Amino acid sequence: MSDWKLPWSAACMCGQVKMRITQAPVMAMACHCTGCQKLTSSAYSLTLMLPAAGFAVIAGEPVLGGLHRPESPHHFCPHCKNWLFTTNIAGGQFVNFRPTMLEDASWFTPFVESNIQEKLPGAVSGAKHSFEGLPPADQYGPLMEAYAREGVRPA
Ligand SMILES: [Zn+2]
Ligand SMILES: [Zn+2]
Repeated sequence: MSDWKLPWSAACMCGQVKMRITQAPVMAMACHCTGCQKLTSSAYSLTLMLPAAGFAVIAGEPVLGGLHRPESPHHFCPHCKNWLFTTNIAGGQFVNFRPTMLEDASWFTPFVESNIQEKLPGAVSGAKHSFEGLPPADQYGPLMEAYAREGVRPA
């Protein structure tokens, strides 16, 4: 159950920004908060949380967008304006990557969904674990262990 079929290739819609993922994700999430609804122009955001050392931009130059907040910047393609990833997660340990940028995202299934109190009525993410707000701090460890065991892999 450890075969993630790495490495993965990823690109934005226009193809100017290309990315490469070489390490297994530590979590797969959907967030229903109203901020993510704005940012995605959709019902919820999708995230693959990756070790920062296992993620690289290999072509193009992403620019900051969204809230332009320095503490966890949102990176976008300068041309097609896709939201690609968020850096500086947990002090720079992780990158929150948008899995729909994967060359093959057909397998992606969120494991945890957050902020369901702000969820749109028809939104269904398919996540196994749901939280009203964010998962409590003491549950991140056990959730990551469960994801490492049971998280959905590429087919
Ligand atoms: Zn959110
Ligand atoms: Zn682009």
